[in-house]
Amino acid sequence: MQITALIVAAGRGTRAGDGLPKQYRPLRGEPVLRHTIRALLANGAISSLRVAIHGDDAELYDAAVAPLNDPRLLPPVFGGDSRSASVSSGLAACDGDVVLIHDAARPLLPADALQRIIDAMKTCRAAFLALPVVDAVWQVSEGHATKEVARDGLWRAQTPQAFHLADIRAAHAAHPQAMADDVAVAQAAGLDVTPVPGSERNLKITRPEDFELAENLMRQDLDIRTGNGFDVHKFGPGDHIMLNGVRIEHDQTLVGHSDADVGMHAITDAIFGALAEGDIGQWFPPSDPQWKGAASEVFLSRAVERALERGFTITHLDCTLICERPKIGPHITAMRRALAAITGLEPDRISVKATTSEKLGFTGRGEGIAAQATATLVKT
Ligand code: MG
Repeated sequence: MQITALIVAAGRGTRAGDGLPKQYRPLRGEPVLRHTIRALLANGAISSLRVAIHGDDAELYDAAVAPLNDPRLLPPVFGGDSRSASVSSGLAACDGDVVLIHDAARPLLPADALQRIIDAMKTCRAAFLALPVVDAVWQVSEGHATKEVARDGLWRAQTPQAFHLADIRAAHAAHPQAMADDVAVAQAAGLDVTPVPGSERNLKITRPEDFELAENLMRQDLDIRTGNGFDVHKFGPGDHIMLNGVRIEHDQTLVGHSDADVGMHAITDAIFGALAEGDIGQWFPPSDPQWKGAASEVFLSRAVERALERGFTITHLDCTLICERPKIGPHITAMRRALAAITGLEPDRISVKATTSEKLGFTGRGEGIAAQATATLVKT
């Protein structure tokens, strides 16, 4: 099941107060839309993401997504005059089996709620996040409560709303008039749509005060972790070594079950350490022949993917290589670039340093290379 995500971000957000459209206003220092995109891309099952934007917002959009370095984020499409028209434009550009349609103004979509709707699509024709109404519901007219509305069976719809792409395209084609959401469009087309438990945290920023509420929720949940990693590999006969993804010609090689990239192993362990999920040896046992001679990129990629699955963003990596030879300095830029390509981090969030051990100990005697690393992970 190939899953694509479509964020509807073409509205003007007039209820949220003056200034920029709400999806581009800052929330904890970053545009709302950037948080929303990150929340979706945090799930590795989503293979592509598109945003439907307003024709006037191309520059705002470019600025909002500039720091996001994820090949799954595809160029935006221009939306229309209504929500339905914007969704239709977006759907025309999407491919895949299942599409998750999500409001740009729901930046706090929790990882578990997102996973629930993805799981639901394994068995449902269509599904949406929603919460049962628990408050008493009253109709109010001219400032007076006039009629109680039975809340039994009432649910408040959230997004994402999930459909098979062909189904929802056909539904929009058959019902082009403005409707409240895509559940309404799907239902009008006769599709069975299943509610899946959403989350109170998944609020839709609508009024000016919602920004403060969202920031408070984010502050409560901020989970910052650091992990450390340490690794050693010894020298043996050979003609090159792999260090942090860079091949360095040398009169010896590093010996190990995989390609013995000691720096990348330390970084991988630092990420697993921050997640408190064991170490590289548990994830990729040396006793397992499939890892023999493996490029260590595989290990680091899996650790990064695991962090994303757990809802963490890796914000910083720092690696120190300890050896007398080879000289590391000339390769540091290439190493930071190689690590950036594997992890999706900006190179300015990746530090590689080197030191000797003043000819002391096994590194000083040139018997091997040691590496230590620190990873910082943040979940908002
Ligand atoms: Mg190792």
